[in-house]
Amino acid sequence: MKIIAIGRNYAAHAKELNNEVPSKPIIFLKPDTAVLKDNKPFYIPDFSSDIHYELEVVLKVCKEGKHIAEKFAHNYYDEIGLGIDFTARDIQSEHKEKGLPWELAKAFDNSAVVSNFLPKADFADMYQLQFELQINKETRQNGHTSNLLFSFEKIIAFVSQYITLKKGDLIFTGTPEGVGKVNTGDHLEAWLEGKQLLNFNVK
Ligand code: MG
Repeated sequence: MKIIAIGRNYAAHAKELNNEVPSKPIIFLKPDTAVLKDNKPFYIPDFSSDIHYELEVVLKVCKEGKHIAEKFAHNYYDEIGLGIDFTARDIQSEHKEKGLPWELAKAFDNSAVVSNFLPKADFADMYQLQFELQINKETRQNGHTSNLLFSFEKIIAFVSQYITLKKGDLIFTGTPEGVGKVNTGDHLEAWLEGKQLLNFNVK
């Protein structure tokens, strides 16, 4: 499986990092070795001194497809969950400045925290989903899918023009505003529509 992630998909987050609001989706990949699940602890890697959390809604792809039309894209994911796109912001900033790819900042081991997945059918409307991250019981991010710049269907249609989607692939759909640094000893909890899906420690 592969992980496809979308950058700058919430305007307020693009602005907080002084980025332009994009006119088409910005994508990057993480390898399967980035997955961290079952609420296992995240260990801060020693190559970065500025690891940021980014809470995101994650789609699980349920069948293979390429050149998927936007109107059929909803058929290509059947479960959703939450994830943290851990980002070495110091490395990313350096690479952005030099025009280099982001992989070292985004694709490292355990950088893709994923929750259990819930059937899409459990939710009435994919664009009325509230999701929240608390660190040490304090709210840091409070997102709502009504604020997405590119809908899940647009993302699937766009990405599948270039990259074949396969069953089991995950799509990180972008983070809302409020990103920041994690520190050793932090306790992260996240909820999707009031249901707790993430609950893990940073070591
Ligand atoms: Mg992200």
